[in-house]
Order: sequence, then C-alpha cells, then structure tokens
Amino acid sequence: MKKTRLVLYMKNILINGDMSAKAFHNLDVFLKKEIENGVKIFVLMDKNTRQHCLPYVLKQCPELKKATDYFITAPGEAYKNLETVVSIWNALSAENATRNSIFINLGGGVICDMGAFAASTFKRGMRFIQIPTTLLAMADAAIGGKTAIDFNNLKNQIGTFAEAEKVIIDEHFLQTLPENELRSGFAEIIKMAIVKGPKEFDLLRNQTYKEISDWQPWIEMAVSEKEKIVQKDLTEKNIRKRLNLGHTFGHAFESLALERELPLTHGEAVAMGLVCDAYLSVKYEHITSRRQKRIEDYILQQFPYFKISAADTMTMLFRMRQDKKNKADAVRSTLITPKEILFDVEIPDTDIVDTLAYYRALAVS
Ligand code: NAD
Repeated sequence: MKKTRLVLYMKNILINGDMSAKAFHNLDVFLKKEIENGVKIFVLMDKNTRQHCLPYVLKQCPELKKATDYFITAPGEAYKNLETVVSIWNALSAENATRNSIFINLGGGVICDMGAFAASTFKRGMRFIQIPTTLLAMADAAIGGKTAIDFNNLKNQIGTFAEAEKVIIDEHFLQTLPENELRSGFAEIIKMAIVKGPKEFDLLRNQTYKEISDWQPWIEMAVSEKEKIVQKDLTEKNIRKRLNLGHTFGHAFESLALERELPLTHGEAVAMGLVCDAYLSVKYEHITSRRQKRIEDYILQQFPYFKISAADTMTMLFRMRQDKKNKADAVRSTLITPKEILFDVEIPDTDIVDTLAYYRALAVS
C-alpha cells in the first residue's frame, strides 16, 4: 500500500506522520490565535492519556500549556456516563466557558465520544477538537461526528451528531497502547476493509495485527472510507448504516459484558459481531460459505472468543431489540453481499437465536 505522510482530508482531519509534526504545528498556530483573542481552552483526558499522551502533545503543541483547565477522568467505558458529563458541565460552568471556548479531547473512543457529547450540548454546543490516542479512535470513533454516552447499561443511548473543528491523528500514541487495545482498534479496521469490498479485505488478511508495523496506511484507509460515507449521510439516514456492520450483535455482546463486569473491549465485541453478521449473510445466501469462513477464521485467529450461555441468548435478543437502529420491535442488522453492505435488514427473532446458537457452537468446534 502506498505511504503518504501527511494527509489533509476535506474536513479538518490531519494525520501526523513520523516524518512531520505539521498536524500539531497547525494546531499550535490555531490555538495561539484563539488564545490571543481571549478564547478559553479546555482539555479532557483520562488518567492513562494524561500519563502517556499529554507530555508528547505539550511538546508538539506548546500553546496547550496555556489551557484554562485540564479535566481528568478515570479510564474506561464504565465512566462514559451522565455522571461524568455532569462533572464536566459543572467544571465548564465554574470556569465561565462559553460556546466559543474550545474543548479538546485527548484519549480513546470513550474520551472522544463523551467529551464531544459534553461539548456539543454545553450552551447548545461549544467547539471541540479530537486528538484520538487509541487505534480504534483514530480509525473510527474520532471521525464522523457521532457523540455519545451509555445509559442504563445500554451503549451509546444518549448522544448527538456534532462535527469536530479538527481531528489530529498521530500514530505515535500507539507506542504506549496496550496490546489488547491495539487489537480492539484492529476490529474496526477489519470492518472497514469488509465495507470497502472483498479486494480490501483480501489485502488486509495477508497479515495479522501483530505483523503490521506501520499503521498509517490502514488508518488512512479507514478514515477516508468513513469520511466518504459520512459526507453523504452525516445523520445516518441511509448509507452510513453500512458502518454498523457487526455492531448490532457487537453492542449486545458489549452490553452483556458491561452488565456482568466482564472485560471485553469494544473492538473485541465488534469482532464477535462480525462473525455473527457473516453467518447471517451466508444463511441469507448473500455470500458463499467460503467467504464467510475466511472472515470468521481471520477474526477467531486473532480475537479471543467471548463465551455466552444459552440464557445469555435471550438477554442479547432483548438488548438487540432496544438498539437505536430498530424500528418498532424488529431487530435490524447489516449483511455482507459481494458488492455492498445491506442495511436495515429485518431479522426475525428466530434467526437471531439461530445465529447465536451457531456462535455458541464455535466454542467447541
Ligand atoms: P478507551 O477510550 O476506553 O481506551 C482504551 C484504554 O486505553 C483506556 O484505558 C485508555 O485510558 C487507554 N489509552 C488510550 N490511549 C492510550 C495510549 N496512547 N497509551 C496508553 N493507554 C491509552 O477505548 P477505545 O477502544 O478507544 O474506544 C471505545 C469507545 O469508542 C466505545 O465507547 C465505543 O462506543 C466508541 N466508539 C465510537 C464511535 C463513534 O463513531 N463515535 C465509533 C467506534 C467506537
């Protein structure tokens, strides 16, 4: 794959390559001007990104040292909730933040989703910048303007569509990312390669995530593919739904894990969701079982299998019925075909149960 070192997409998405610090320089110049005009800057991060990412950012972008305040949360999905957002709103109010202030999210998908939600709702929406620090956030969460928090143990139940002023992507942050988090982000890259088409997936499956040393081409593939779709359908009225591939089942796996306090990353859940969608796609005769097996084998070769019981099947069905993508009570999911990803496909409960039975059988096969 061709290497490009600094890419500026149509929207303000800047990818910082290891040969250039231009993206952060761009941010530094931008912030200097804003601060000179009296604009207040706020930075949200979690304990880990404060330790591993903030020192690098301050070196690359010294203007950030003049931020009005830094907000630090505990890490993890369990804190992507209203309580944390209320504490952010309280802190912003105490600092007299205005709609013209700038809110910077330095972190993974949790920080990017939650910080963007807090910013996009404060005083009807303040400006925000995403600096994703996980592979998942670089390739997916920080792009495309979806903000969210979890509610009542359900993923992303409350949220807005709001576009970031800028997104700064720098694979330098991946150096300190734990391996399971890197693999988690890889699931969204696999998804994006399947969405792009069989050729892209075949190119990707030549290697495992452990064999990839330069992530930039794959991040660029995912970002450009997502941007192309989001430009046409920001608010997910139609084609953006293709990006939900693996997510109907994935969110149900994730909610189950959250409820049971079992460790399961978002990407691991999506990977299991992709296995389920691939099975449904062959069941509905859209793809060959050879293609389904290629997807399934590639995923199970790299991701830990998440075990569920027969009783979990009904809990997951209940969760899936509550998914935002559904109309009335019927579960809607995405399916893979040779040419495109079908979305809004109504899946009868019997087929959900059958898919989960197939998935459970993989534990012993
Ligand atoms: P995360 O944000 O919880 O980060 C994973 C862990 O890595 C955390 O402990 C974090 O502190 C730590 N970390 C982050 N950067 C690090 C670094 N550079 N070095 C060391 N540690 C680091 O998880 P995630 O997988 O990035 O994001 C998952 C979230 O993204 C989910 O809530 C999901 O719903 C959301 N998401 C949103 C979208 C969207 O379009 N908005 C798309 C996909 C996923």
